[in-house]
Amino acid sequence: MKVTKKALLLDGYVDEPACFGVPPYISPYVRYAFGVLESHGFETRYLTADQWRITCQREAVAEADIITVISGLTVPGRYRGGSPLTLSELKDLCGLPRKGSLFLGGPIRHGYTLKGGSKALDLVLDGVDCLCTRDPEAALDHFLKTGELRPEKTRTYEKIRRWAQLGAKVVKAHPFYPWLVAELELSRGCDRKGGRCSFCSEGAFSTYEERPVTDIAEETKALADSGVTAFRFGRCSNILSYGGTDTLCGIRPEPSKIKELYAAVRGACPDLEVLHTDNCNPLTIAAFPDESLGTLEEICRWNTEGDVLSLGIESLDPKVRKLNNLKVDAETALRVVRLINVAGGHRKRKRGLPTALPGLNFLAGLAGEDKGSFEANRLFLKRLVEENLTVRRINIRQAMIFPRTPLARLSKENPSKAGKKAFMKWKNWVREEIDPIMLKRVAPTGTVIKRVRIEERQGRLCFGRPLGSYPLLVGIITSTEPECEVIDVVVTDHGSRSVTGIPCPVDINRCGFEEIEALPGIGKARARRIIQARPFACYQDLAAILDEPGVLDGISELLAFR
Ligand code: SF4
Repeated sequence: MKVTKKALLLDGYVDEPACFGVPPYISPYVRYAFGVLESHGFETRYLTADQWRITCQREAVAEADIITVISGLTVPGRYRGGSPLTLSELKDLCGLPRKGSLFLGGPIRHGYTLKGGSKALDLVLDGVDCLCTRDPEAALDHFLKTGELRPEKTRTYEKIRRWAQLGAKVVKAHPFYPWLVAELELSRGCDRKGGRCSFCSEGAFSTYEERPVTDIAEETKALADSGVTAFRFGRCSNILSYGGTDTLCGIRPEPSKIKELYAAVRGACPDLEVLHTDNCNPLTIAAFPDESLGTLEEICRWNTEGDVLSLGIESLDPKVRKLNNLKVDAETALRVVRLINVAGGHRKRKRGLPTALPGLNFLAGLAGEDKGSFEANRLFLKRLVEENLTVRRINIRQAMIFPRTPLARLSKENPSKAGKKAFMKWKNWVREEIDPIMLKRVAPTGTVIKRVRIEERQGRLCFGRPLGSYPLLVGIITSTEPECEVIDVVVTDHGSRSVTGIPCPVDINRCGFEEIEALPGIGKARARRIIQARPFACYQDLAAILDEPGVLDGISELLAFR
């Protein structure tokens, strides 16, 4: 009788500068590990951290011949889609009775912390047989072939080619399936010339390497065959460098290579719903503005709407920038934001979201910082507002200090003296003074956000998000339970970091008072009049009973008369 080998793969979630894997995102780490286990004939049970927390499947640990845990955050974040595995949960897991070897890998190799503004601990855990100091999939494969524990094993792109294809089907075991975004790997390491930013763990990869287009397309096809329709080029520190030419000033973007990449992925999944990217190094745009513009235009031709190009600005205080080897000053950052607005500020469809906008990452807790350091950031954001430029989101985080990054040393010599009060004041100022302005520019009243998935309900308000890069949080006013879990929403109002809307098209003869009241220009009195006068056969009938007949003209095509 053939005995089936059993494996447990626990997805503790990952977040690092160039890779994200908190639901609805699924990271390459778990897909590759699943592929390795498949290639060795294992029957693998895949669990997410949230599933583990609820069910604590001790028997899955006890009966597994091998256990792999992927985990670790090297950038702080707050997540709506799931809660990463904590150290105490990991310790509990390691202490459970088992017969199989336990592999632990992912960004956790850099150390452990869950909070921004804190120093990471070097991880020492009893009960872990192999703490993978490089690539968990390579260490796992080596062990399964030889029985030897080699935590430092690394993989090549040639090696992961098959694992990536075999691992694609793990998506079907994900509790969010098929509502998933597959984080795709394009490259790894940092392409920057002239040293690394002090805080960044991506520099730990000694060389910058790129994955062949054919391999990316093959994995996309395997994921599409397993039901995935949303993809992000997130495992990549700089989309503009992909396929570019190495020069003394950095990698010069090659628009034709980006075209080749996007065309191959589109060809591998012709019905894809989302194709987004993430990191974009502002230094590349500063060094090669013409080639960057050509590349950005190519991205905007092939991507799907609502894309975000994340720029690591970190701090615009000149002394902090110098000490931490940060990328750009305020003038350069301004030029970069202008260029992305030119390439991606348009909308591909009427009432759609902008094609691609900049996202700004600021970081506090850097070496040399003081209370006045945030003023330069503030002046920069004011200029964006004055110039009528748009950014999709502004992330303000506190650095996590990892042992082997330059920041670990620098922050001992020149610790941040900004203090929590100054940090919160700066952050709150952005949330109150800048975010609301930008949100109205990104999604003005009347914007239709497609395919919003309802995630929770609080009375007559539901909350949901579409799939994609940094999706907008949408509050949906519904007097009745929506018929579908995934709906289109027309924006009717704005909070500071979320929009409010109603299901679209608006079924004027059947929807509730709250939805009608929320229509732009309607309010309580007109809503009452509409409710009393319905049903209407057409828009003209509706307009005729209003004291200002043209008040709904701007959104008339979004109204349904059933
Ligand atoms: S440019 Fe800086 S932030 Fe970007 S990957 Fe390199 S070291 Fe990290």
